[in-house]
Amino acid sequence: MPVDVDPNDIVIVGAGPVGLYAAYYAGFRGLKTTVVDALPEAGGQITAMYPEKEIRDVAGFASIRGTELVNNLLQQAAQHDYNLLLSETVGELDTADDGLYRLTTSEGRVIVTRAILIAAGLGSFTPKSLPTIQAPLPEGVLHFVPKLSALDGQDVVIVGGGDSAVDWALAAIPRAKSVAVVHRRARFRAHEANVEEMRSGRVRIIAPGEIQELRAGISVEAVVVRQPGAGDQVLPCDKLIMALGFTSDLGPLGAWGLERIGIHFCVRPDMQTSRERIFAAGDVSEYPGKVRLISVGFGEAAIAVNHIAAAIDPAQQVFPGHSTHGAE
Ligand SMILES: Cc1cc2nc3c(=O)[nH]c(=O)nc-3n(C[C@H](O)[C@H](O)[C@H](O)COP(=O)(O)OP(=O)(O)OC[C@H]3O[C@@H](n4cnc5c(N)ncnc54)[C@H](O)[C@@H]3O)c2cc1C
Repeated sequence: MPVDVDPNDIVIVGAGPVGLYAAYYAGFRGLKTTVVDALPEAGGQITAMYPEKEIRDVAGFASIRGTELVNNLLQQAAQHDYNLLLSETVGELDTADDGLYRLTTSEGRVIVTRAILIAAGLGSFTPKSLPTIQAPLPEGVLHFVPKLSALDGQDVVIVGGGDSAVDWALAAIPRAKSVAVVHRRARFRAHEANVEEMRSGRVRIIAPGEIQELRAGISVEAVVVRQPGAGDQVLPCDKLIMALGFTSDLGPLGAWGLERIGIHFCVRPDMQTSRERIFAAGDVSEYPGKVRLISVGFGEAAIAVNHIAAAIDPAQQVFPGHSTHGAE
């Protein structure tokens, strides 16, 4: 694939919510922008893990479905021209005497750019499974539910005790024939108000409890759950959702030599990493007091892009003016 000789001002690695908002902001600042994502669809964790969830903590929306938020972000970014490359992983980073960065993607494309914003979230993520349930998974055993209608009239069993287990339970309540949540501890590690809502809903909670056995032909049929002091019980099950978290890996970005803590890049208050003109925002960034939420990532994207605008062109101010000025 040919080298793009006309350099970008900014390449955004990741088209999750933070990368997409950064693309809007980069367009607003008049920067030539390319966004690259390894996944076939934009939206990051939202699209991959909870497209149908009602998100209730994004500013300006009392509640918004995941897919709708991603569509809105795509529309907002599309107000200015930018390139969106999907199903393409950003790999090697090179620098030359001209001070430009060269990024090679999994397709062999070389993208030249003045600055980089890493909005790579968790990197590539692999959902965890129960040790007793290994691939190939029978039909009905899931990590994510891309369309909630798949739960309509079904016996649903959810394993896990974190936010995503509780979120799936709340989403299943109005649709499923039955909902059971199995968690190996008594206490849930999830948003308290949501746990309360789940407890007051039509959900059978087995906590502490553990899935001992999966009964399945081509599709899952039942699970055997062991509860201390109560012995084994068989739960009918058409859909088993394993909400056990995931392992994640920065992949090629981990070899860029940037200062980091685990899978998170350390940034200064302007969101620059340990390397000049390489910034990080969203879940992938790290600093004292960091909170990993969409709303926080949006703010970080705006900080990073405005500082990038000034870093690549000293004639530009960091403060962009207000977006209303652009509409006049
Ligand atoms: C079940 C669940 C429910 C949640 N609910 C909420 C909620 O209600 N409210 C809230 O604020 N937050 C919620 N979150 C957290 C929220 O989803 C994240 O904070 C948010 O997605 C972070 O956005 P991001 O753009 O930084 O990263 P991500 O959404 O992770 O997107 C990063 C993108 O970068 C891509 N990428 C990574 N490496 C490369 C590479 N080398 N090359 C190309 N592309 C790459 C990935 O494919 C991915 O698409 C939830 C998370 C989960 C799992």
